[in-house]
Amino acid sequence: MSTYRIQGATGEWEVVIGLEVHAQVVSKSKLFSGAATAFGAEPNAQVSLVDAAMPGMLPVPNRECIRQAVRTGLAIDAQINKYSRFDRKNYFYADLPQGYQISQLYHPLVGEGHIEISLDDKNPEAEVKKIGVERIHVEQDAGKLMHDQHPTMSYVDLNRSGVALMEIVSRPDMRSPAEAGAYLRKLRAILRYVGSCDGNMEEGSMRADVNVSVRKVGDELGTRTETKNVNSVRFVMAAIEHEAMRQVDVLESGGKIAQETRLFDPDTGTTRSMRSKEDAHDYRYFPDPDLLPLELTDSFIADCRESLPELPDAKRHRYENALGLTPYVAGVLTAEVETARWFEALLAECAVQQGKGEDVVAKQAANWLTSELFGALNRLGRGLDDSPVGPAEAAELLALVSDGTISNTIAKQVFEKMLETGDKAGAIVAREGLKQESDTGAIDAVVAKILADNADKVAQYKAGKEALFGFFVGQTMKAMQGKANPQVVNELIKKALG
Ligand code: ADP
Ligand code: MG
Repeated sequence: MSTYRIQGATGEWEVVIGLEVHAQVVSKSKLFSGAATAFGAEPNAQVSLVDAAMPGMLPVPNRECIRQAVRTGLAIDAQINKYSRFDRKNYFYADLPQGYQISQLYHPLVGEGHIEISLDDKNPEAEVKKIGVERIHVEQDAGKLMHDQHPTMSYVDLNRSGVALMEIVSRPDMRSPAEAGAYLRKLRAILRYVGSCDGNMEEGSMRADVNVSVRKVGDELGTRTETKNVNSVRFVMAAIEHEAMRQVDVLESGGKIAQETRLFDPDTGTTRSMRSKEDAHDYRYFPDPDLLPLELTDSFIADCRESLPELPDAKRHRYENALGLTPYVAGVLTAEVETARWFEALLAECAVQQGKGEDVVAKQAANWLTSELFGALNRLGRGLDDSPVGPAEAAELLALVSDGTISNTIAKQVFEKMLETGDKAGAIVAREGLKQESDTGAIDAVVAKILADNADKVAQYKAGKEALFGFFVGQTMKAMQGKANPQVVNELIKKALG
């Protein structure tokens, strides 16, 4: 990938990006109360007295939320801080009944880590870049305000109030919208593998604050702006692009960048100023007197580590090294945890049904999944989670190909019928008489007829036009409605042509 630069009148500008990602923690209950966290409930149906900040209510940390944040930290090779503490970040807003957010400023739960991104979709092993993660801290989410429900009314829904968030703060290590996109996708994949956040950006369970500055190549870091709460990868990339251009324009016309908080408007793809940037001291942070510091034991951290699944990069390497898949295919299969799960279920079924090792059936299974199944799901507008064909049924189809009962061409037709009717591959092949013809006698007769009907082409072939070989194969296959064993057809034609 080429380096991303903005050409201005005074020279070339480089973009510097740091992302603060808010990821909602997967946990049945909130960070400091027992209220439920499920998405989509009736407004204010999931609010405990703690979340509503009734006088005298005391927060109690939820072990599961802490565990999820630690597991996330371990998944990005981060330092886990055995001592951490909660602080109050004080401000007034109608969606924050406490008048402060409980967060972690001075002693976050998770310290320095990193995430590896790849800038080459075709080969995830090429152009790998490490993006630093400065910290992950745990904090409460606020409620939600709904304005203009009536001309003069605003409503507050406190269901989200007190839900646990991880704030994952990157280093300013990204240099293009594409790098920021790759970072977000990789982070989302890791969170989903770990199961600590569902990564659902449309429902707001993952959102990014986008810090952008520009500088002349080799200069010190420039002043940044922070665009708040951007809720899709595409919007993050668009916000960066727009913001970088805007800053270059300001600087080139002799202006200064104000360190400020901005808003992204998805309709126009532009950002606009919201407020000047506040500093930590504006919030009067202080240690929350209602909460003791968190002190983690080694065994708690060890349990968290033990509970981690195989992560995307490790899985990709295993697919390449143990299963012999190409880096590209291994990358596609491991990019989302659902895909990897489906593939592994298919692989296990294929190995059983064909009585072979997983390494032997891997290529067939991988190719079928990434081309045939993905193609079909795309057409049907469905995801893997509601695929009309499951791994066991798919494995039956692939076993029929592998034992020579049907050809790859016929397998495509059978798969279409499986999608249409919901029937199994074996039943369709039997019912429709699709079994492949490997009987040399029957094929030989057809080959002889094709060659006799095309005597002119046979002569041309013999005179050196070897490309005609494929024509003879095609004609024979067509005459046999695709049911001839292609290998046998090839051999017999070769023999017949001398
Ligand atoms: P704050 O706590 O005030 O938001 P931080 O120093 O914690 O500030 O940084 C927040 C985010 O801004 C981090 O993701 C960091 O990488 C990013 N950042 C810091 N300086 C710059 C800069 N000059 N350009 C772009 N991003 C930056
Ligand atoms: Mg910040």
